Amino acid sequence: MTEINRLLEANAGYAAARANVADLRPSRHLAIVTCMDARIDVFAALGLHLGEAHVLRNAGGRVTEDVLRSLALSVHVLGVDTVVVMQHTKCGLAGRTDAELQQLTGADLGFFPIPDHASALREDVDLLRTTPFLGPVRMIGGFVYDVESGQISDVVRYERS
Ligand SMILES: [Zn+2]
Repeated sequence: MTEINRLLEANAGYAAARANVADLRPSRHLAIVTCMDARIDVFAALGLHLGEAHVLRNAGGRVTEDVLRSLALSVHVLGVDTVVVMQHTKCGLAGRTDAELQQLTGADLGFFPIPDHASALREDVDLLRTTPFLGPVRMIGGFVYDVESGQISDVVRYERS
């Protein structure tokens, strides 16, 4: 069986058992930006349930233009007022450079490498804080998730007065 067929087979069981959530607005007014890393179970790690939060994932859990695009809708259409950026230990983007990642992949892209988590989180939280169309966001957090212990470090906080 291919991996794609395994997904469809698993879905048959899931669809039969799942609870339906009718409201498309996240009930806790939350958006989580985090890495695509397969070791992060975002909902379990943060005690979230279906229907409670938007989860935006990319390599590194960085605030890219596409994350801003999604957050514009989260905030203005879907009632989100709190955003958490959650990077993690042992990330493939940590300690790399754009030049290295371009060489490795053959892709001439900006990869948003992470020199260190504190500075990358501050940069991303600052970008969220100063993006004019994200003015309705009241609270922003920057976390680092430890993929070995499962524990979270609370690194950056911002609250709009
Ligand atoms: Zn990562």
